[in-house]
Amino acid sequence: MKVLVAVKRVIDYNVKVRVKADNSDVDLTNVKMAMNPFCEIAVEEAVRLKEKGVASEIVVVSIGPKVAQEQIRTALALGADRGILVETDEKLESLTVAKTLKAIVEKEEPQLVILGKQSIDNDNNQTGQMLGALTGMPQGTFASEVTVDGDKVNVTREIDGGLRTVGLKLPAIATTDLRLNEPRYASLPNIMKAKRKPLDVVSPADLGVEIKSSQTLVKVEPPAERSAGIKVGSVDELIEKLKNEAKVL
Ligand code: AMP
Repeated sequence: MKVLVAVKRVIDYNVKVRVKADNSDVDLTNVKMAMNPFCEIAVEEAVRLKEKGVASEIVVVSIGPKVAQEQIRTALALGADRGILVETDEKLESLTVAKTLKAIVEKEEPQLVILGKQSIDNDNNQTGQMLGALTGMPQGTFASEVTVDGDKVNVTREIDGGLRTVGLKLPAIATTDLRLNEPRYASLPNIMKAKRKPLDVVSPADLGVEIKSSQTLVKVEPPAERSAGIKVGSVDELIEKLKNEAKVL
């Protein structure tokens, strides 16, 4: 079974995000970039399926600038077999990404497509769902367990107040939630091996996809600075302040 995993290059989650002085966008100058954490979980799940003998090939795809090859190489070091970069310097929207992924799905014909539930830079949480709508493939979003059973995949979904398991006929789409697995670290020998794994670079035009925007970014603002707290001397003083100053009691 072929598994396709979509990985996105985003700002590393450890980095404190800075906004450009003119509020036009996030400042990416000299910022450490990494694979979106939910995509790491997607790669890990695919690798586990391969280790179980369920998956035979893992293809990783990223859509973005040339440097997104770094994230593909990371996925190859973690155990993916082959990478595809759809290279573009254009600003990407989820619908364009989903259309591009659809073209890759038509070409590669994977049985299972795994995406992150959400990218941590734009928090869209919609690419997997859009890919489902465009391809007509069944989807299990927010997966905390993925089990392939014959021509079906069971996806246990994290929903408000509990878990819900859906059975999807393959080919299908799953998007990963945080508790699906704990991604491994790439070992040095595997990082070296990954350099020799195949990585194809194609353009959106090669896939017959046009990258266009329907949105303009109006403004980006950092969260308001929190004002400093105060120390109270006693519980009585705390209650008095909560009653008379904060007026929450
Ligand atoms: P989003 O809908 O933007 O929150 O992203 C959800 C998931 O879609 C990500 O975790 C990735 O698996 C996939 N995705 C989004 N953008 C890209 C991209 N530029 N290249 C590859 N995969 C992407």
